[in-house]
Amino acid sequence: MATFNLLLLPGDGIGVETMAEVERVIAFLNKNSNKAKFACQSDLVGGAAYDKHGVAITDEAMAKAMKSDAVIFGAVGGPKWAGVPYAVRPEAGLLRLRKDMGLFANLRPAICYPALADASSLKRELVEGLDIMIVRELTGGVYFGEPKEIVTLENGEKRAIDTQLYTTHEIERIAKVAFDLARKRGNKVHSAEKHNVMRTGVLWKEVVTQVHKSYAPDVTLEHILADNCAMQLVRQPKQFDVIVTDNLFGDVLSDEAAMATGSLGMLPSASLGAPDPKTGKRLALYEPVHGSAPDIAGKGLANPIATIASFGMALRYSFDMGKEADMLDGAIAAVLAKGLRTGDIMQAGMQKVGTSEMGKAIVDELQKLVA
Ligand code: NAD
Repeated sequence: MATFNLLLLPGDGIGVETMAEVERVIAFLNKNSNKAKFACQSDLVGGAAYDKHGVAITDEAMAKAMKSDAVIFGAVGGPKWAGVPYAVRPEAGLLRLRKDMGLFANLRPAICYPALADASSLKRELVEGLDIMIVRELTGGVYFGEPKEIVTLENGEKRAIDTQLYTTHEIERIAKVAFDLARKRGNKVHSAEKHNVMRTGVLWKEVVTQVHKSYAPDVTLEHILADNCAMQLVRQPKQFDVIVTDNLFGDVLSDEAAMATGSLGMLPSASLGAPDPKTGKRLALYEPVHGSAPDIAGKGLANPIATIASFGMALRYSFDMGKEADMLDGAIAAVLAKGLRTGDIMQAGMQKVGTSEMGKAIVDELQKLVA
């Protein structure tokens, strides 16, 4: 039986509370799975690390992350650290993890559980059963390209410049992630760019087409202009399976798709690095999309599903435990179908529960599924 090493970084605010529920799920799997065991280490990140060590993440915690099979991250930040120096602000811990681990592929699923279809701003029939994966390039493009500056011109006017920049290699590796994912799902990829007005769009389309031909001819590929993609996501979202796109368009499109599904408390994500040439193993970090929610932190009110579902993504994408990931998704769907709701997804006639009750109910459903 395999043993996987997990680094748990709960962070601040509700990150601590939702991670406790992930630990409940891990304890269940350690007791019941005959496929793998999880060896967990924990460390501090964000404001919690700053309070103890004066930095947002220590070199020791970074070393543990680099050696781990996956990092499960909670959330960082809060008003308590509003005045700390910029270089050691809580978010710097997450940014260092992303940079040092080379996490270039950001995976944001948009899944609509049938029980929550009415919480979406779109009509039930458009979103019920929705299951999209947005693959966003995370370390290149206009957020990082140089020059990136505001200059004062001779006439006193200012001019701001951001540079959109992509190389063949950067596009190739993100396209491969998208095709690999599609093979495990609906076998269809939409590549979204603006080849009609951007040179990076021309190269993006060219390289994705080439990767498709040489690496994944078995997967269906469609090219779509990013603005049309934004429109189609609210018009007919179920036409999509995997969408691969650059850093900027991915930022916008993944938030748009997410809102079709209801609450921030429901949204998991994964960030993957390049495969190790010898072992094929990727460094990976899994985290909920939400932040530390200072307004409800410490009260046992947070929805733990986004963090638990992030661990579910680790099962699927780092540990090849798709069956267990499906079981976890099934347990979440069953709890929602029974009417249990945390405050953020509360609806009339449903039963309001807290963080640990929700976590416990999910593990109880898991228990039924293995029985
Ligand atoms: P937030 O995501 O923390 O909260 C936004 C709203 O959604 C709040 O009303 C909150 O109560 C609610 N909410 C979020 N997650 C929830 C959950 N699981 N269950 C129930 N309700 C939930 O965003 P914010 O308020 O803009 O930011 C708060 C702090 O978190 C800031 O310091 C910000 O910098 C930080 N932040 C961190 C991350 C991260 O760690 N990746 C991401 C976003 C924001």
